[in-house]
Amino acid sequence: MTSPAGVVVVGGGQAGFSVVSTLRASGYDGPVTVCAAEPHLPYQRPPLSKKAHTEPDGPRVELVPESFYGERDIDLRLGDDVIALDTAARTVLTRAGTRLSYDHLVLATGADNRRLPVPGAELSGVHALRSLDDALTIGRALETARDVVVVGGGFIGLELARVALARGARVTVVELADRLLSRAVSPELEPRLRERHERAGVRVLTGTAVQALEGTGRVERVVTSHGVLPADLVVYGIGAVPRDELAREAGLEVADGVVVDEQLRSVTDPRVSAVGDCARHPHPHAEGLVRLESVQNAIDQGALVGRRIAGSPAAYESLPWFWSDQGDVKLQIAGLRSASDDVLLVPDESPERLAAYAFRADRLVAVETLNWPAEHLAARRLLERHTPVSAADLAGTTLRALARARRTAEVRT
Ligand SMILES: Cc1cc2nc3c(=O)[nH]c(=O)nc-3n(C[C@H](O)[C@H](O)[C@H](O)COP(=O)(O)OP(=O)(O)OC[C@H]3O[C@@H](n4cnc5c(N)ncnc54)[C@H](O)[C@@H]3O)c2cc1C
Repeated sequence: MTSPAGVVVVGGGQAGFSVVSTLRASGYDGPVTVCAAEPHLPYQRPPLSKKAHTEPDGPRVELVPESFYGERDIDLRLGDDVIALDTAARTVLTRAGTRLSYDHLVLATGADNRRLPVPGAELSGVHALRSLDDALTIGRALETARDVVVVGGGFIGLELARVALARGARVTVVELADRLLSRAVSPELEPRLRERHERAGVRVLTGTAVQALEGTGRVERVVTSHGVLPADLVVYGIGAVPRDELAREAGLEVADGVVVDEQLRSVTDPRVSAVGDCARHPHPHAEGLVRLESVQNAIDQGALVGRRIAGSPAAYESLPWFWSDQGDVKLQIAGLRSASDDVLLVPDESPERLAAYAFRADRLVAVETLNWPAEHLAARRLLERHTPVSAADLAGTTLRALARARRTAEVRT
């Protein structure tokens, strides 16, 4: 009898960690190995863009202490990325030259920043943010930066803009689209969000292209389609691309992410799964396949695959949800909106709180809230249970009140 080769996870981020912690929590007792490119213990990324990190030894962002892995007999190989995958032999090769066999392979390689395709992007003082090391570099640069240009008005750009503002810099956000967060939030909500950032002191230039970064060795200015901006620090967040080259080179189907089925198995090879930012998957809330970049998705997909390998298979149908803290603005999203949905914008009595409800065929499918966590939580509960809510149901009320009234009615009947 041969001993099991066990599970090899490629990537020690949020999703990879979720796979291995769930495997052990679900009673899987075969060998478990994690190959992680970064030298750090698996950590969470959301704080990286929401706070300025200046600590020389790095901030405390790791998901669990190192002892967690030893106690659960998880072989965590830090700083050793996988450079090749052989699905026929069921092995991976690491940069250090180790060949590891697997019974199940899980790709949890995440995503990488889209590079800024303009002259001068390689000047010093120009940074993108993805890793803990990037966050430390940007945090240190913010100690002296006076004029910060943020390229890209997406989540990471807006979060960083508010961090830089809080550190006393003059901040300009340059966005190519004609509005902020154009892919992520509804056009109805965006002006309210923009107004809050401008009121706080961020200069926002939409419909503006960055054409070049200039300076002698270090960045000094940003040339845009609407003029030149002084800059001693440029940070950019213009989207991410999935890290799917290993899968592609191994002959697995890839289409802007590793294509997987409803149980998150590669459609080409069921012994390989993909989870988190690198996976493109079917979802009951989506039209066609989707690739989601969120902590919720990484955790829930990792857990689903961990439970499947441990013996409890299921289809992936977790409700997508997301949050972003941008200074004094907490933006939360539940569900998946598409461009053709009807949107109803409802301000709360408090001027700071706002919700945008998206309906498809008069059925609630997604909710975006500003500074209204209670309404976000009510939305998650209703959408998770597939409770039908129409625009008429919401007239003059909130989801929270509606959920409460329905619960009371259920108790009475
Ligand atoms: C700055 C920032 C802020 C964010 N804020 C939020 C937020 O507020 N809310 C939210 O929901 N989401 C947020 N996200 C997104 C969220 O962090 C990601 O969706 C989540 O981390 C995805 O998990 P993952 O495991 O798929 O990828 P990652 O966490 O990126 O981990 C992938 C890991 O795999 C490693 N790797 C890649 N290739 C290889 C290889 N060949 N061999 C070995 N290792 C490899 C990478 O180095 C990386 O460490 C944020 C992301 C960033 C970058």
